Amino acid sequence: MVRCGYDGCGWCAIAPTERAAREQYADHLVAEHAREVDADLPAGTVQVRHGDDAEWRTVPVEEALGYHDKRSE
Ligand SMILES: [Zn+2]
Repeated sequence: MVRCGYDGCGWCAIAPTERAAREQYADHLVAEHAREVDADLPAGTVQVRHGDDAEWRTVPVEEALGYHDKRSE
């Protein structure tokens, strides 16, 4: 099961497969945790902020998902 790695966020994916769950999570990141897109982001990237003092960064979706993987270990 894929759960959101952000503190205080209880979102988790409801999907039949890991792949589908990750796609849902990518959508969730964009919808809930990504800055409004007003720039031309490269395809497959999202803007995320992690940690208390982190700046918004543009990262590949896979990297954003990687945060979750590290935190869940
Ligand atoms: Zn979340």
